[in-house]
Amino acid sequence: MITVSVATSRKEQLIDITRDVQNAVSKRGFANGICHVHTAHTTAAVTVNENADPDVVHDIILSLDSIVKELPGFRHGEGNSTAHVKSSLVGNSVTVPVDNGQLVLGTWQGIYFCEFDGPRSRKVWVTCTPSENG
Ligand code: ZN
Repeated sequence: MITVSVATSRKEQLIDITRDVQNAVSKRGFANGICHVHTAHTTAAVTVNENADPDVVHDIILSLDSIVKELPGFRHGEGNSTAHVKSSLVGNSVTVPVDNGQLVLGTWQGIYFCEFDGPRSRKVWVTCTPSENG
């Protein structure tokens, strides 16, 4: 397992970590199988989405804000319940195939770390599992 550090600089932010994950796969000399990208934080997430137009990331954050609102009935004392809800909606991991040492992503796809309660120092764990036929 390889740890990737992510330093977020805003309260809510999607950071393209594709290169970091690819570097982790390459550093291991991993050739073929699947790569699991996981974050163990409860107010963050990991997703795959478009990395060509930065407005997509903006629109994802805006859409999540429109879906997840502060509610008067919230009980969680830390005051960051919306971040916890967004973390669960987006999910804390993705799995990406690896072929000949390269992450198999679409032309416009990137792997994003999603910060919902920053800025903070965060971590992502990358685990590679070889395919049965190598
Ligand atoms: Zn909390």
